[in-house]
Amino acid sequence: MEDKRRSYLRKIPAVNDLLAEELGQELIAEYGHQLLLEEIRSLLDRLRKKILDASLAELEAKLIDLRKIKILKDVREELRVKKSSKLMPVINATGVVIHTNLGRSLLSQSAQEALERVSKNYSTLEVDRVSGERGSRYEVVEEILKELTGAEAALVVNNNAAAVLLILSTLAKDKEVIISRGQLVEIGGSFRIPAVMEQSGAKLKEVGCTNKVHLADYQEAIREETALILKVHTSNYKVVGFTKEASLKELVNLAHHYDLPVIEDLGSGSLVDLRPWGLSYEPTVQESIAAGVDILSFSGDKLLGGPQAGIIVGKKKYIDQMKEHQLNRALRVDKFTLAALEATLAEYRNLAEVQQRIPTLKMLTISLEELKAKAEDLLTLLRKHLSSDFKVGLRRGNSQVGGGAYPTERLETYVIDLSSEKYSIQDLAQSLRLNNPPIFTRIYQDALIFDVRTIQEEDFEQIVKAFEEILREE
Ligand SMILES: *Cc1c(COP(=O)(O)O)cnc(C)c1O
Repeated sequence: MEDKRRSYLRKIPAVNDLLAEELGQELIAEYGHQLLLEEIRSLLDRLRKKILDASLAELEAKLIDLRKIKILKDVREELRVKKSSKLMPVINATGVVIHTNLGRSLLSQSAQEALERVSKNYSTLEVDRVSGERGSRYEVVEEILKELTGAEAALVVNNNAAAVLLILSTLAKDKEVIISRGQLVEIGGSFRIPAVMEQSGAKLKEVGCTNKVHLADYQEAIREETALILKVHTSNYKVVGFTKEASLKELVNLAHHYDLPVIEDLGSGSLVDLRPWGLSYEPTVQESIAAGVDILSFSGDKLLGGPQAGIIVGKKKYIDQMKEHQLNRALRVDKFTLAALEATLAEYRNLAEVQQRIPTLKMLTISLEELKAKAEDLLTLLRKHLSSDFKVGLRRGNSQVGGGAYPTERLETYVIDLSSEKYSIQDLAQSLRLNNPPIFTRIYQDALIFDVRTIQEEDFEQIVKAFEEILREE
């Protein structure tokens, strides 16, 4: 090992020396000896690893701070984070609008109010007001879903994966489901749609090649054991180049000829065509229903911009069977989901305003001029408050839709890019995440990127405050 690295490692303070510091004693009083000890050990381990992983240039530049006071302050910060509530609101500066790890969609004002109302009061969740008899919670959103999508019936469950499970358990248990090989998708967190489907007891019958599937491939696969044809919208990737897919309309004609239903898992499932705002074409729920699909499912918290839910719409005779299925009881949604979903859907009755009122749609369709103005405001604030140790600038960049929607779309945006000779960008990014409220950024070519598309203007002050706090702790 190089001398430089060895001497660096030797400078890591001993646990007992840290505990003996004044701040160490204070932390023992506040968090207890055991918890503090664990936290210090964990941090020292990470420092050791960082030194071992660092390049010689980084070691020369002394980017790794081993002062006792700095280590103890970092430990204090981590303990504070651990002790504070686990589910905290965060500032999303990543530019990924439907960020699954940060909670996907923000709710509209009306949905927030609906949530508050049902949380404070008893509600008409499962009661028929005319007769006073027991009603069904599914009626809360069924009518509006029928109205908006043109479908005969609707049912809502916990999420879209649950929707797919319920659909196949009801219609294809112990039978075959024909699906294109190019549509066997993994949706993140290593969950695979084919695995979810197999949980239903259905057997997947893959047809075609990864890049091409012809209508005849489907036709040849149809036999006695076939329950249905399934089309999965490959929303998180695109097969480009020498490709072919059978259209939904063709599949519908083929399946109906054999008296089989066609099911579509639309993934993100939008109710509005976003092309007027410069996004590329994505099939809408209404189009699929109009094309004759028998059952279709999509997520409530992706492009729809509502709460987590799996929305199933389609032919009444199939939906009725799903409502009766025992599994439906295990996958059912609670009153909060229904309240937020009903309010979100109601926004779609007013197509002239919906794109302003649903935060997900608003962030996806915000104009480039507005983004630029927003970025300039943030830049001005940062320039005013940050020392010359930081270089901040404004430039064009790309945001992502996220949530597996529009996989190849690069939404043009403006970003602030911040770099520093003095501070490590990785450390800054971590300090921002440990801030209260936590701030999530992107790192690109040794700079921190703040994409203003997903930052709310009220949060600008918080970002400046976070930097002041971090620098004070140094
Ligand atoms: C996201 C997605 C799902 C899973 O939806 P959840 O609501 O997250 O359960 C299923 N299928 C496709 C094609 C998806 O894009």
